[in-house]
Amino acid sequence: MITPKILKEIESIVGKDDLLTEKEDRICYSYDATNLKFLPEAIIFPQNTEEISRILKIANREKIPVFPRGAGSGFSGGSLPVNGGVVLATSKMDRILELDEENLTVDVEPGVVTEKLQKFVEAKGLFYPPDPASLKFSTIGGNIAECSGGPRALKYGVTRDYVLGLEIVLPTGEIMSTGAKTAKSVVGYDLTRLMVGSEGTLGIITKATLRLIPLPEEKNTLLVLFKKIEAAALAVTNIIKSRVIPSTLEFMDKDSIKCVEDYSGMGLSDNVDALLLIEVDGGKELVENQAETIKKICLDNGAKEVRIAGDKREVKKLWQLRRSISPALAKLKPNKINEDIVVPRSKIPDAIIGIRRIAGKYNLTNANFGHAGDGNIHVNIMIDKSLKDELNRAEEAVKEIFELVISLGGTISGEHGIGTTKMPYIGMELSQLAIDIMKKIKHALDPKGILNPGKIFPQ
Ligand SMILES: Cc1cc2nc3c(=O)[nH]c(=O)nc-3n(C[C@H](O)[C@H](O)[C@H](O)COP(=O)(O)OP(=O)(O)OC[C@H]3O[C@@H](n4cnc5c(N)ncnc54)[C@H](O)[C@@H]3O)c2cc1C
Repeated sequence: MITPKILKEIESIVGKDDLLTEKEDRICYSYDATNLKFLPEAIIFPQNTEEISRILKIANREKIPVFPRGAGSGFSGGSLPVNGGVVLATSKMDRILELDEENLTVDVEPGVVTEKLQKFVEAKGLFYPPDPASLKFSTIGGNIAECSGGPRALKYGVTRDYVLGLEIVLPTGEIMSTGAKTAKSVVGYDLTRLMVGSEGTLGIITKATLRLIPLPEEKNTLLVLFKKIEAAALAVTNIIKSRVIPSTLEFMDKDSIKCVEDYSGMGLSDNVDALLLIEVDGGKELVENQAETIKKICLDNGAKEVRIAGDKREVKKLWQLRRSISPALAKLKPNKINEDIVVPRSKIPDAIIGIRRIAGKYNLTNANFGHAGDGNIHVNIMIDKSLKDELNRAEEAVKEIFELVISLGGTISGEHGIGTTKMPYIGMELSQLAIDIMKKIKHALDPKGILNPGKIFPQ
């Protein structure tokens, strides 16, 4: 429990305006995209690394739990104050510090919104590829803490592939730098990689040096409809086998297609079991050739129809279709259990057929879509949480789906992280030895267990 005396001490560091304790303010920081709610005792808005260091020294001394928070768009409960304590919001540390056009790097503070960074570098002909669908509001700090991916991961990789170095405040308040502003750096253990994806449990990211690449000149988008999901999966495998790596290769199953049909009015759902939304990028000639190659492979593999976007307006319309899935699903039931499993891409049909079987067994509404190129499927189980029986059935189904995924050689989370929601399942995928080593790392960096406690594994 945080005392008025400690709050005064924190106020002396950040000032009155950057410390919120009123209940209505605390409610605003009590939830994330999981819809779970935990009320913090206070919210602190530090403006620089030094302030964070001083706050963590107090928290460490007084054993106050601290929960870093970017935009609160996480899907695994990572930023939620499950054990009381304070939320440390990075929204006032949102400056793009330095663009280095000679070395193709950019230094940023953690609260920079992903899309703001992308637009900033794109205006200079440069490219920061990681593109979580939440990019309009998610922060770079949250992206690094979760190692976020997105549709472009197939060709361009995920957040970890673009982080060269970090400035971190450790739970003890000490300030540490990792990595270097160079393409190569192998001095000691790779602490940058350790921090990327650590879900805010090992330190608070206060600065990041990110790698940039040249912006591709052109892109083109194809929409491909299939009567059978197996044909769609075969087309995906054969596209990659032909050495064409699309920048995105998204897929929707028939239940997701039905949901977006009202929005799109594009006449998609008639006799369609799956669709692929494929984008290629690069030089003009290359893009045209690749689009034609993909069209041929899809038709050879049983596609019912291939539409190539003729202009930017059509590209926008096709992507609108993909982005409208989440709001469209909300029409089915008030709540969504959203898992982000990954299987080897050749196993996508087995995974989808298995997931549909499990959903049927528990009488649940289910729709699946995702990043077919890297086998990352967003499994959505639509429920009404107020119906206890339906919630229990959904939880049973999730466990069986995870068992299926692991039996197919996959992983239970591709990009959303473990947080609190997947904590009960981590032992299904990791050995006890691996979990024990992770716990030792956590203890070495955070001996009093104050930073994001109650996350990833039972402490
Ligand atoms: C509509 C929607 C679409 C999404 N699409 C995708 C997608 O395509 N791909 C994907 O990967 N994710 C996706 N997500 C999930 C989410 O947006 C990402 O995990 C994102 O990276 C979280 O960023 P955030 O700033 O909101 O972080 P938060 O939710 O605030 O925090 C996430 C975690 O990071 C920690 N954290 C935040 N900032 C810091 C920091 N500075 N230092 C240390 N730890 C920190 C928090 O403690 C927490 O554990 C989506 C979410 C929504 C709501």
